[in-house]
Amino acid sequence: PSLPALPTVAPAPSAPLDVLGVPGEINLDYAATAPCARAAADAVTELLPWYASVHRGAGALSRRCTLAYERARQTVGDFFGARADDHVIFTRNTTDALNLLARALPAGTTVVTFAGEHHANLLPWPRGSVRLPVPADPAGAVRALAAALTELRRDSNPALPVLVAVTGASNVTGELWPVAELARVAHRHGARIVLDAAQLAPHAPVDLDTLDVDYLAVSGHKLYAPFGTGVLIGRADWLDAAAPYLAGGGATSHVGPATHDVTWAYGPARHEGGTPNLLGAVALAAVCAALTDADRVALAAREQALLARLRTGLAALPHVVELRTFGPDAPRVGIVSFVVAGWDSAAVAARLATEHRIGVRDGLFCAHPLARRLLGEAAGRAGRRDLPPTALRASIGLGSTAAQVDRLLAALAELS
Ligand code: PMP
Repeated sequence: PSLPALPTVAPAPSAPLDVLGVPGEINLDYAATAPCARAAADAVTELLPWYASVHRGAGALSRRCTLAYERARQTVGDFFGARADDHVIFTRNTTDALNLLARALPAGTTVVTFAGEHHANLLPWPRGSVRLPVPADPAGAVRALAAALTELRRDSNPALPVLVAVTGASNVTGELWPVAELARVAHRHGARIVLDAAQLAPHAPVDLDTLDVDYLAVSGHKLYAPFGTGVLIGRADWLDAAAPYLAGGGATSHVGPATHDVTWAYGPARHEGGTPNLLGAVALAAVCAALTDADRVALAAREQALLARLRTGLAALPHVVELRTFGPDAPRVGIVSFVVAGWDSAAVAARLATEHRIGVRDGLFCAHPLARRLLGEAAGRAGRRDLPPTALRASIGLGSTAAQVDRLLAALAELS
């Protein structure tokens, strides 16, 4: 089929927000791991000669590293709008950050999530958590949460804490969730809210204070920094009252001879036992600084033009069916999941890789309840029985171009 006229797209950003890649290889899998931004690579290269122990040594190298680590904490906290009483704790990734929070919950906390969440925001929560069905639209999410919290408050001890755990943008569909409204509802019912910003933060400014969320979790490797760094930011009280997430060196202020004779540190150190990932923290901070200096409205407009090009092109392919939770016009970041009727998704992904050097993701995207539901819904909407049981996902970001999107569309058109 011939492709329709597609929206034009501005050039990709230049340094320090250009991304590293391999010539000829097309990465359309930013939602899994984004390529490294030059800002991150430069920050690591600059610090490498100074590489030494953090928080432990007296030498000049070590002191510089300690300063760099704490400055990175400040930069990342500022980038996400951390408030005066928030802790900024470096973790390995979003999964680690949410597990840390899960371990820090006061006894008796009920966690309320939606079935549309990534496994990282479904599985860490304690038994007795409430999982609300995937809503039909964002307003439905707000209504469902209000109803669930009203019921919970009526049926259980109102003194027990409640935590609402939601994503900012779906890793399956890219659709935005009404975070500020959900936060308002949570607080109205005396609950706290944690935002899984893994997919939102790479595409839009996320500010804890503006959104009025209590905790936020992100992954550096989806935010143009290398693997191994994430952050949990949020209210200090639960975090300071909890047992250390990683007991060990650095997490204590005093250890005596008896086994129980230990005084745990307060603040981020309490949960950051062991030698920290300095380079990862510094790289993430460098990306945050570069994004702070960038015109994010222009970056978002560019991404939306690219996304419109991709979705318009996919919609014109009669054998391709998009997955979506909300309506076709619901706002979303640069993520699209779809199926090719009559084609196994893993086979399509392999063919894209080997014949076209295009990398996409296939499967159920660590969001099995949502992906299975959307696959069923897509089959009904398209009136087709030949849709495969897993999906494909294309996701874009800073380094993506119109030419790459067009290559994907042309490759998919060949499968008709
Ligand atoms: N939440 C969402 C919405 C995600 O997309 C992901 C990663 N796919 C995660 C959490 C987990 O991130 P990580 O694997 O970096 O811990």
